[in-house]
Amino acid sequence: MWFRQDLRTRDHAALNAAAASGEVICLYILDDETPGQWRWGGASRWWLHRSLRSLSKNLKLVLRRGRADTVMADLIQETGAGAVYFTRDYAPWCQGLERRVKDVCESAGAACHRFGGHLLREPESIRNGSGEPYKVFTPFSRACFAAGEPRLPAAAAKPVMWQGKVSSENLLDWNLLPKHPDWSKGFEKEWQPGEEGARTRLSSFIESGLAHYAEGRDRPDQPLTSRLSPHLHWGEISPTQCWAAVRGAMAKAQGKLDVASEKYLKEILWREFSYHILHHWPALPEAPFREEFSAFPWRNDADALEKWQQGVTGYPIVDAGMRELWATGIMHNRVRMISASFLTKDLLVSWTEGAQWFWDTLLDADIASNSASWQWVAGCGADAAPYFRIFNPVLQGEKFDPDGAYVRKWVPELSDLPSNLIHRPWEARDFQSNYPAPMVDHGFARNRALAALKQIKTSSA
Ligand SMILES: Cc1cc2nc3c(=O)[nH]c(=O)nc-3n(C[C@H](O)[C@H](O)[C@H](O)COP(=O)(O)OP(=O)(O)OC[C@H]3O[C@@H](n4cnc5c(N)ncnc54)[C@H](O)[C@@H]3O)c2cc1C
Repeated sequence: MWFRQDLRTRDHAALNAAAASGEVICLYILDDETPGQWRWGGASRWWLHRSLRSLSKNLKLVLRRGRADTVMADLIQETGAGAVYFTRDYAPWCQGLERRVKDVCESAGAACHRFGGHLLREPESIRNGSGEPYKVFTPFSRACFAAGEPRLPAAAAKPVMWQGKVSSENLLDWNLLPKHPDWSKGFEKEWQPGEEGARTRLSSFIESGLAHYAEGRDRPDQPLTSRLSPHLHWGEISPTQCWAAVRGAMAKAQGKLDVASEKYLKEILWREFSYHILHHWPALPEAPFREEFSAFPWRNDADALEKWQQGVTGYPIVDAGMRELWATGIMHNRVRMISASFLTKDLLVSWTEGAQWFWDTLLDADIASNSASWQWVAGCGADAAPYFRIFNPVLQGEKFDPDGAYVRKWVPELSDLPSNLIHRPWEARDFQSNYPAPMVDHGFARNRALAALKQIKTSSA
């Protein structure tokens, strides 16, 4: 059983099939070679360490490093394994990798079994009326709802471990945890990586968050979203389990949770849509979905990028988000949109720079959701927000963090400001603070962004 982004024992088709076939060797491969520039970033590595430690409490894990197909060939030879089981991965580099693993199995005389499970449905199974993949979310989500309820989650697998001799590397030797400096201290108190942590998070969301989700999901100052994204990314819980839990809560609440639940299920479908797009347009992490954006005049401005990364842009809501990200490995969705809009529109720095920073710093860094969401905000993605809709960071802050509690938490130098000035500190008279002035005037930046858009429109006309 080759574990990948499916670090759980419940609702696990591949593990169940492996367990049913005989004794099992549970393998995890740290492959930094195949993904190239998209090998796991720093925050992901922290999570992976913790998640593998958690999984190894339930299963005896064999850990190996190297190119996954080579490691697999060696292990089959060492152990005489008769079959390989794994869950499909949709990252562009995995298509070739999974083919090579199949070849390795064939030449070693082992069977190769690939399963779904990371998504509710396989990306090929949802097509529009002309048999094409969807490019727009709303009809995609309608088609998903119309396709009927996803299957019910499967029970926990209880594999019998192979008793033969097989060597494993030591997790600590993989150096997945940061050392000097250790920037992960804030992660510990926020997160419990692993299947148990995921299940606890889901239950507490169903009990206390779901009812307020429809009106609360856009409020970064309130903890009303599920915060399941890293658990879903690592497959510690499946989307099928989340779907079934929400449906169960809906049934019990007899109509009271319908609106909130539909909203939540739609967010799960945004995740599916991101994978659908990635699967059908595998260049998504690097190239704009809308080709005319290849000619967009992005600015190469290392200084501006660094100010954004460090959360010293002078716009409180942007800076609060970037600092939350650095401290906790996560950023609220609304603030991700505002800060991504600020980078790509106010600073005209390419979405690829932002996506790479998120890749390194987010605990839920996910090649499908990250690439699709960055392109969505930048205006060059599938069903993207139109480019001319440019977030005003002051108005967004005032709308979604009306009392400034989120900004006060992450930008303490502003905590003494009254709510009516906290999102526009430059208007506060006699306010002494080392908080920077806005690095760019939003009105000016907006016009500059619209002019840049006009340029590509004219050149592609
Ligand atoms: C610029 C940008 C980058 C992003 N990068 C990532 C990323 O790398 N990984 C990631 O998982 N999400 C990403 N998102 C989407 C979204 O911000 C997170 O999924 C969400 O904030 C996770 O918080 P939650 O679990 O509390 O979400 P909830 O609101 O509780 O939603 C439930 C689940 O639905 C899924 N989901 C929700 N919104 C989206 C969305 N817009 N797109 C795709 N799936 C969604 C997530 O799996 C989430 O856990 C990004 C969004 C933006 C704007």
